[in-house]
Amino acid sequence: MTKKLLILPGDGIGQEIVAEAVRVIDCLKADFGLNIETEQALVGGTAYDASGSPLPEQTLKLAREADAILLGAVGGYKWEELDISVRPEKGLLGLRSELDLFANLRPAILYPQLADASTLKPDVVSGLDIMIVRELTGGIYFGQPRGVRELEGGERQGYNTLVYRESEIRRIGKVAFDIAGKRDSRVCSVDKANVLECTELWREIVTEEARAYPDIELSHMYVDNAAMQLVRAPKQFDVMVTTNMFGDILSDCAAMLTGSIGMLPSASLDINSKGMYEPIHGSAPDIAGQNVANPLATILSVAMMLRYTLDEAELAGRIESAVSKVLDDGLRTRDIHSVGMREVSTSAMGDAVLAALRA
Ligand code: NAD
Repeated sequence: MTKKLLILPGDGIGQEIVAEAVRVIDCLKADFGLNIETEQALVGGTAYDASGSPLPEQTLKLAREADAILLGAVGGYKWEELDISVRPEKGLLGLRSELDLFANLRPAILYPQLADASTLKPDVVSGLDIMIVRELTGGIYFGQPRGVRELEGGERQGYNTLVYRESEIRRIGKVAFDIAGKRDSRVCSVDKANVLECTELWREIVTEEARAYPDIELSHMYVDNAAMQLVRAPKQFDVMVTTNMFGDILSDCAAMLTGSIGMLPSASLDINSKGMYEPIHGSAPDIAGQNVANPLATILSVAMMLRYTLDEAELAGRIESAVSKVLDDGLRTRDIHSVGMREVSTSAMGDAVLAALRA
């Protein structure tokens, strides 16, 4: 059956990097038999400019109908002064919550060709391959009550609520165990069970869920230690699973271990593996429109989409090999450029990936 893909370039460099990813998709359709229909729509600041909403009804409708969504990035200086309810980021958060994309998969992979890009010693990070599974639709970012209230005497107090239902913990645990089964079969669950009752429950439920996966090795780690271990000896981890806020912080930390924000894809999945795929970086307004952005994170997001939603692991592998080939050939966009390598533009990087795919 033909699958439907919704393409949402968004703002800033989103337009340029998604254009390169679309060329890769078109090549897979034309030359490798990928059976997929694509449609484009607006999200973020460009959608606000056109319709007054960062997530227009039509975009949401198409997103609901699609099997997968490819998103560039949203945001930019132009929209920073808008009311928070219509800021570009609301488009992204709206998609995640409306589609119940509760499982955020953030790989932190360091290509051996880029080992020098990390601020850590090459032997600590070379060959790094971690998958962080972050719960994305619950926890303290969504818990009620929340707000800022005035106390007796007039002092203000800010407050948020950390909440997780058993079912929410169970389903994210299951995603992590399933992914670990396709990798090195190890899951480290990260919590703060020594201080927070909510994550004490998290630890209990993850442990219970693990019983259905006798071949997976489960360990637990407090988040403060996990942050230390990520920079001390990151290669000890295979899959890490954690709450929304801890995952937000740890996945950025893990991304920086690789030193190349322009290289890292991500996926957000629902219970049926419908997914939204996007690079981890933002819209980079400082370099937008200059044809210098690195399109590889977006192209690698297409590979993740093929693997996790479209069940086309072989095609995913082809994209990953093509990316590795262009790095072997010494091609680098400005963000990952180093002495002795050839600096190329966004579109030239796209050309090179297409050539490697077809070779
Ligand atoms: P950013 O990720 O856009 O940029 C950080 C730095 O990395 C910049 O110097 C940028 O030039 C560089 N960079 C990012 N992606 C790159 C790429 N593909 N190639 C080369 N260089 C790249 O983060 P920011 O500057 O904090 O945020 C800019 C805007 O993006 C803000 O409006 C923010 O809200 C938004 N944002 C959106 C998302 C998203 O859409 N998922 C994520 C983060 C930030």
